[in-house]
Amino acid sequence: MSGCERLEKCPIVNNSKNGAASDFEKIKEKYCYNNYSKCARYMVLTSVGGDFVPNDLLPEQVEEAKEIIAEAQEWM
Ligand code: SF4
Repeated sequence: MSGCERLEKCPIVNNSKNGAASDFEKIKEKYCYNNYSKCARYMVLTSVGGDFVPNDLLPEQVEEAKEIIAEAQEWM
């Protein structure tokens, strides 16, 4: 299945501490399988690298992602 390259390892959809399995499925349907380019985590990953992706950043936190990217780029 195509989708986000991080699907197998992403802590947001693979860590049981993050919520119920049904929540993971909703996130996967909304972002991971189809619209991963709109995922905040994916945006940070592809813009400035995985080291800058906070463990708790959620896919819908796009504004936070933009701030992280802007701050990281100041260091580059
Ligand atoms: S939550 Fe985002 S980074 Fe993680 S697998 Fe889904 S689309 Fe990729």
